[in-house]
Amino acid sequence: MINVFFIGTGGGAPSVRGLPAYLVRKEGINVLLDCGEGTQITMIRHGINIMSIKVIAITHLHADHVLGLPPLIQTLSMYGRKEKLYILGDVKKLLEESFEDTHFSPTFEINYVNSYQDTSIKITPFPTCHVIKSQGYIIEEKERINVDAERLKKEGITDWKILRSLKEGKEVEYEGKKLIPEDYVIKKKGLKIAYTGDTAICERVISAVSSSDLLLHDSTFTMDINASDYGHSTASDAAEVAINSGVKRLGLIHISGRYKSAEPLLEEAMKKFPKSFVPNDLSYIILH
Ligand SMILES: [Zn+2]
Ligand SMILES: [Zn+2]
Repeated sequence: MINVFFIGTGGGAPSVRGLPAYLVRKEGINVLLDCGEGTQITMIRHGINIMSIKVIAITHLHADHVLGLPPLIQTLSMYGRKEKLYILGDVKKLLEESFEDTHFSPTFEINYVNSYQDTSIKITPFPTCHVIKSQGYIIEEKERINVDAERLKKEGITDWKILRSLKEGKEVEYEGKKLIPEDYVIKKKGLKIAYTGDTAICERVISAVSSSDLLLHDSTFTMDINASDYGHSTASDAAEVAINSGVKRLGLIHISGRYKSAEPLLEEAMKKFPKSFVPNDLSYIILH
């Protein structure tokens, strides 16, 4: 199970929607995708624990995606954080200069990495097509391995050590019979979430996000604007990507402040890809 919290679903300048920030939560591991201005304020005001963020992945250095990061790190230090923070994206110079200029040094170690993985998730970047260097992220749940407890019970095997060995992929001798893991193990493919950050419609995004359970794609404008000229996408472009990459659901994000209502964007996307939605700030989605 993965939860995605939509903290800021706008883009460019703040509007009724906040600037880009998305929190992906998987079994106590919290990953923040982008950190626009105001992100920490929104999170703190709405009881979302900023201390629990383990990984922050920034797509690019445009202000609307990154200027919430230096103050967030300063607050984590004021709260006395000791735990290491992993940061993906090209932000080392920005952070170090901002720390120096504001006479601040973090109370915890920052580990600048290109990708991240632990026992339950993996985060990898992919290049997008924007007006400056920018990358999206794929968050994948590791394959889940469960033992077919029903079958073992039917066969009278209840010893947890046998269950554990089979789960670890080891063959087990039981009452003269050889138990083979493949016969008792049920593998379930992990969930895949793709976040583009800012991008025009392009092939490399389509191939990177293929078969995602959830795609969060740039949908800054409606079709009457030539979004590609600005390195952005229309809702219709996002739907096109969703179709061509075979994703299950499409979330339209980075909505321009010019749209007081998201209806025109949603209508445009739904014509091509019915499983589209426009998340509002402070909403969330649970994926199983
Ligand atoms: Zn942006
Ligand atoms: Zn941008």
